[in-house]
Amino acid sequence: MTNSNTGKILQFKMKFLKLKNCNSSINSAKYYIPVLAILFLCSASPEAQQYDILLLNGMIVDGSGAKKYRSDVAVKNGKIAKIGNLSEAQAYEYLDINGLVLAPGFIDTHNHADEGLIDPELKTNKGFITQGVTTTVFGVDGFKSISKIKEWHHLYQEQGVGTNYMFYIGHNGIREDIMGMDARSPTDRELARM
Ligand SMILES: [Zn+2]
Repeated sequence: MTNSNTGKILQFKMKFLKLKNCNSSINSAKYYIPVLAILFLCSASPEAQQYDILLLNGMIVDGSGAKKYRSDVAVKNGKIAKIGNLSEAQAYEYLDINGLVLAPGFIDTHNHADEGLIDPELKTNKGFITQGVTTTVFGVDGFKSISKIKEWHHLYQEQGVGTNYMFYIGHNGIREDIMGMDARSPTDRELARM
């Protein structure tokens, strides 16, 4: 149980077993209603118990300051459904991660990926997500104006981004929006707008 192919094979096996268990009395018409009931039970009960992914034998560092510990983690509908001994649990995919660290996603508070994400080919933000960064903070160094942030945010929403993101609103960017690159003090009106 070391990769997603194994997970798929297990998934197939599970489905096969389910059918095998449920179809034993299908031949006779008088069993029609009981068979329907059995089929219903078979389709309703196991699904409710299943997880989408099981990460087995992970080393959990939960970010709270607590000591790391070895455990399994179940994921369902994109969320952590259970942490604990899940050696008996069923899922569509199994990954034995063999002591690798499981941790909440990291937040990168200063990076320059924002401009690259405009390119649809880079929108997954792969360079960050593959390092465990799930939230990226853009607009660093003070240069992003509100108009530019609105423009990029709109684009990101349209095409999707592989990480969570947020923007700093830069002092320099706001100043440039209101008074361009003029090397002077702002008027009272410009200052109020800023
Ligand atoms: Zn920088």
